[in-house]
Amino acid sequence: MHPAAHRGVGPAATLRAAMITPRSIRHCRVCGAPTDYRAPPEDNRERAICSACGTIHYENPLNVVGTVPVFEGKVLLCLRNIEPRKGFWTLPAGFMELGETTAQGAGRETLEEAGADIELGPLFTVLNVPHVGQVHLYYLAQMRSAALDPGPETIEARLFDESEVPWGELAFKTVHATLEHFFADRRRGQFGVHCADIA
Ligand SMILES: [Zn+2]
Repeated sequence: MHPAAHRGVGPAATLRAAMITPRSIRHCRVCGAPTDYRAPPEDNRERAICSACGTIHYENPLNVVGTVPVFEGKVLLCLRNIEPRKGFWTLPAGFMELGETTAQGAGRETLEEAGADIELGPLFTVLNVPHVGQVHLYYLAQMRSAALDPGPETIEARLFDESEVPWGELAFKTVHATLEHFFADRRRGQFGVHCADIA
């Protein structure tokens, strides 16, 4: 998808958005009857609407939350043990759960995937990934010790010097972008918040 497709508003943008809407809801979550995708009255895009009870199922982007854990100048990466991208390196991150904040989710994922004891720092990257309907948010984090205890989603968790980062074996573009910003900011001696769109 061309990045320009995500910009702008109006009929063309609405049409494009409708085309990339994931058509994943085939049955009503309330009564189980089949759904049809059509635009409800006074709406501008198609929704899964129950053919029996009329419930409209809205689908919206999901938040992925994670951290850039650092210990003595090294960055923590996890080798993924699950699809997608099994066998590739990632920063600890995962889908935000209901009832938690973005910061809580980032801390939870870091504990679950790496077993790292961290002090969460400020928000660092906000990365839109519209072609998969996700927003990825990464926080800076300081590890209190080098102790790690990876969970079942992780084959191996380890600390990398900048020169050791396996750039060609990273799991996701958002991980690549976040690490690039991290090392660039560290060279500058000043960390900011980076917002970007990932095509
Ligand atoms: Zn229904």
